[in-house]
Amino acid sequence: MNRPYNFSAGPAAIPEEVLERAAAEMLDWHGSGMGVMEMSHRGKEFIAIYEQAEADLRELLAVPSHFRILFMQGGGLAENAIVPLNLSRAATVDFVVTGAWSAKSRKEAQKYAAEVHTAASSEDTGFTALPDPATWSLSRGASYVHLCSNETIHGIEFQELPDLAALGSDAPLVIDFSSHVASRPVDWSRVGLAFGGAQKNLGPAGLTLVVVREDLLGHALPACPSAFDYKTVADNHSMFNTPPTWGIYMAGLTFQWLKRQREGDVTGVAAMEIRNRAKAQRFYDYVDGSQLYLNKVAPNARSRMNIPFFLRDESRNDAFLSGAREHGLLQVKGHKSVGGMRASLYNAMPMAGVEALIAYMQEFEQRHA
Ligand code: PMP
Repeated sequence: MNRPYNFSAGPAAIPEEVLERAAAEMLDWHGSGMGVMEMSHRGKEFIAIYEQAEADLRELLAVPSHFRILFMQGGGLAENAIVPLNLSRAATVDFVVTGAWSAKSRKEAQKYAAEVHTAASSEDTGFTALPDPATWSLSRGASYVHLCSNETIHGIEFQELPDLAALGSDAPLVIDFSSHVASRPVDWSRVGLAFGGAQKNLGPAGLTLVVVREDLLGHALPACPSAFDYKTVADNHSMFNTPPTWGIYMAGLTFQWLKRQREGDVTGVAAMEIRNRAKAQRFYDYVDGSQLYLNKVAPNARSRMNIPFFLRDESRNDAFLSGAREHGLLQVKGHKSVGGMRASLYNAMPMAGVEALIAYMQEFEQRHA
C-alpha cells in the first residue's frame, strides 16, 4: 500500500508493519478468540503481552535493573504534576527552560513544589539555543532538576545530558523525553527519572512511559493520588488501576519492530540513531543551503526529531502546505505558537520520506524563484 509520508509531531506515524500486524490480530489475538482491547488486564494473555513489552523496552533502552519501568496514563502534561507530587518533598525544584514544553512543566510544578527555581533559560534567544550547563545556577539541596531533552515545538535537543554531579548538584535529573524516546540511547547514569507520552515514537496516544530510579520511589506528598504515586504503580506492576492495554500492546509491537531494525552490525535503538542522524543531517543541509527556507536553531542545539523551518516569504505558506498535501506529504504545518513549518522525523519516517519532502521543497523553490 502506497501511503503518504506523515510528518506529524504527534500523534505521529506508526511503522506500517506494526499497523498491519495490529490489524491482522484485531479480532483474534494468537488464537485466544479475543482482540487485545477485549482482554482482562489480569488474564494470562495480556500479562504475556505486558511482560514482553516491558522486557523488550528494557533491552532496547538498556534500562539498568535499579530502574523501574511504569506504564501510566495522562501524558507528559499529567507528569508535569505527577513528578513534583512524587519527588519535590516540599523543597526547591530546579528548572532548565529551553522551550515551550519545559516552560509548561515549570508552570505546573509551581502548584506543588515549595519553590520553583529557574536554573537556566534560553528564552532570551527565542528558544533557539541551549544554555551552556557551565552557566546554570543550580540550587543547593534541590529535590530534582527538570529539563526537556527534546523540545518538540522549538526543535531543540540536548545532544548530551548534563552531568549534574560535575556541576555541583546532587539532585536527580528528571527528563521529559516524550519526543525523542527510542531515537537514541539514554545515559541512565545521568538520569533519575524519564517520562514521555507514547504518541510520537512508541505507539498511539494514551500510554505514558515512566522510567524511574528505585530510590526515588516512596517519597510522594500526602496529597498525591494513589494512581499517580510511583511506588504504588511500581508495586502493582502498573496495574493498580487498569492500564492502557491497547497502548501497551501497540508499543510492544513497536518495540519488536525496533529490535528488527539493523544498520551495519547494530540493531534497535543504536540502528535508529544512525538513521535519525542521517535523516536530520540531510534535511538541515538542504535547508541551510536553500534560498527560500530557514531554520533558526543554533547548530549544536538542533533536534534530530522535530525540525521547524520557515519560508523566507511567509505569504507563500498556504501554497506550500496545499502543494505538500497534493504531493502526499502530510501534517507539515508548524506549531501555531511559532508558525512556519515543521518536519517531524521520528523513527517511523524513512529516509525516502525525507527525500520526498526535499524534492517537493526544491520544486516549490524553483517554481517561486
Ligand atoms: N512534552 C513534550 C516534549 C511534548 O512534545 C508533549 C506533546 N507534544 C508533551 C510533553 C505533552 O504531552 P501530552 O499531550 O501527551 O500530555
